[in-house]
Amino acid sequence: MEDETLLMLPGPVPLPERVRFAMARQAINHRGAEFGGAYSNIVRVLKTCFGTNNDLMVISGSGTAGMEAAVSNFGKGRKMAHLINGKFGERLWKIGERYGEAVPIESEWGTPLNLEALKEALENGCEVVTMVHNETSAGILNPGAEVGKICRKHDALFIMDGVTSIGGDNVKADDWGVDVAIVGSQKCLAAPAGLAAVSVSSRAWEKAVKNPPYYFDLPAYRKNAAKSPMETPYTPAVPIFFALREACLLIEEEGIEKRVARHHRMAKAVRAAVAAWGVEMFPKTDAIHQYSNTVTAARIPKGSNDKDFRGHVKKFGIQIAGGQDHLKDVIFRIGHMGCVSAPELLATLAATEYAIQK
Ligand code: PLP
Repeated sequence: MEDETLLMLPGPVPLPERVRFAMARQAINHRGAEFGGAYSNIVRVLKTCFGTNNDLMVISGSGTAGMEAAVSNFGKGRKMAHLINGKFGERLWKIGERYGEAVPIESEWGTPLNLEALKEALENGCEVVTMVHNETSAGILNPGAEVGKICRKHDALFIMDGVTSIGGDNVKADDWGVDVAIVGSQKCLAAPAGLAAVSVSSRAWEKAVKNPPYYFDLPAYRKNAAKSPMETPYTPAVPIFFALREACLLIEEEGIEKRVARHHRMAKAVRAAVAAWGVEMFPKTDAIHQYSNTVTAARIPKGSNDKDFRGHVKKFGIQIAGGQDHLKDVIFRIGHMGCVSAPELLATLAATEYAIQK
């Protein structure tokens, strides 16, 4: 019997039936036309989600694998500036520390990034910048275009984590000057967990380090992806490739613009509910930092706590997320990414309203 809990999390998200069924099949040789065809379908559709014509490669590993591949191939031995206003910005900094000289540019979680400090860091020799576009831990959408412009002006490489924005919100990697962008399969793409896709600009390839980690050797991924049929350097997670291919076909059938508009509508509905409940949104926005359109973070009402609050929601068979690290017991987060339907969203809002009134 399947677990019928409705996951309204910022990933993993519920899987459409077609995506689930695509995984349940006999093993195949991953060096051949069938696998190559699936890989090329994925790349075609993901390029439209990333807004890029750059090379795009898929790694068997979660979103963090994509983050580490990006930082290690383009930041190893270099001075990097890490923009931080949440857990995943912090994660990129921690990865940076393993590979080079990592300079954190910290703001309180959920508050705007410090772009003046970024400019200073770039004047002081930082060659690579990392930013999380949609900071899932705090529900804030950071400014890709503005940061891209600053990076270009200082000739720095721009690595953008689009793990929870790509496929659900507007991302224009090429227009914004993003050199390396990353997505994870279990978020807005509505595929199972286990794959990360990374796009790389020609400017970034020119600056690629000479000795990347063996498993995250992006030039090796590029070389294998250029073969016909397409391949990966090592054995890929084939069943998840098939599921991701199906998820990508669903994106193509819906159309990326319509999909983004659908995510915007969902987010607007959740924000309207939060306002009607008289609950405070967690992020502090400004002209260029906005509320996330894929996950909404709001404060748990005074007198309640994470366990009780989410426990009330769970009575209805619905799982929402709590806060991470120091935001535990402070915020709750509703994920509205992937293929969540309007009735599912309305049920979630009703269950959350019940928890607020308890
Ligand atoms: N980046 C962001 C913005 C995320 O939300 C997450 C996961 O929630 C990650 C990176 C890490 O992805 P994974 O858990 O797939 O390694």
